[in-house]
Amino acid sequence: MAQLLLVEDDARVRSALIRALTERGHVVTSASSGMSGLSQAVEDRPDLVVLDLGLPDLDGCEVLRMLRAVSAVPVIVATARDDEREIVQALDAGADDYVVKPFSGAHLDARIRAVLRRGRETEGAGDAARRAPPVVVGGLLIRPAAREATLDGVPLGLTPKEFDLLHHLAVRVGQVVTRRELLTQVWRMPYGGADKTVDVHLSWLRRKLGESAQRPRYLQTVHGVGVKLVDPGP
Ligand code: CA
Repeated sequence: MAQLLLVEDDARVRSALIRALTERGHVVTSASSGMSGLSQAVEDRPDLVVLDLGLPDLDGCEVLRMLRAVSAVPVIVATARDDEREIVQALDAGADDYVVKPFSGAHLDARIRAVLRRGRETEGAGDAARRAPPVVVGGLLIRPAAREATLDGVPLGLTPKEFDLLHHLAVRVGQVVTRRELLTQVWRMPYGGADKTVDVHLSWLRRKLGESAQRPRYLQTVHGVGVKLVDPGP
């Protein structure tokens, strides 16, 4: 059983899917436009989002990119067209899987369970990280067990993804880490060249560290390659 958000503008398809998924034990909320889907995905924190690509207000891939800037929730896109280019675009934008319409409730449910199963395996990796020892870099102290990070003794108040990002960089202090590595290792997402997820989170993390891309201290961008965390010294 999972809490699902269904973003679908066709009222008939929407109610049929809600019925089919509810019968299979899921709790389903729904939205009929891209914008309302986005805000519900952020507010309701569903376990998984089923996203129709043909929406009246925004293109589904656009919705996905906006969602990926703020959330790593698993997403299955539903496309009416068996268009390989569109499917590749959706996967590059951060979709975890796709289904081509028309599909049955049983088919969608099987895809949902497979994606959630993969997600749980990823959480297993997170558990190992939580047992990892504390990391100190200059004034930064990162404690994976408590999922806490402080700078010069002051808590940074990081979101879970910001914490994972900082930890990933801190255990590789002085090494350049590519965006591709961050996206696949920290977000467990396929790499799309135009993806802004990593950049957006890096800029949020920078702000919390009290620095900027123009005046970096801990987070040094290596242009065209990636980013590294360094001890800025006194
Ligand atoms: Ca549609």
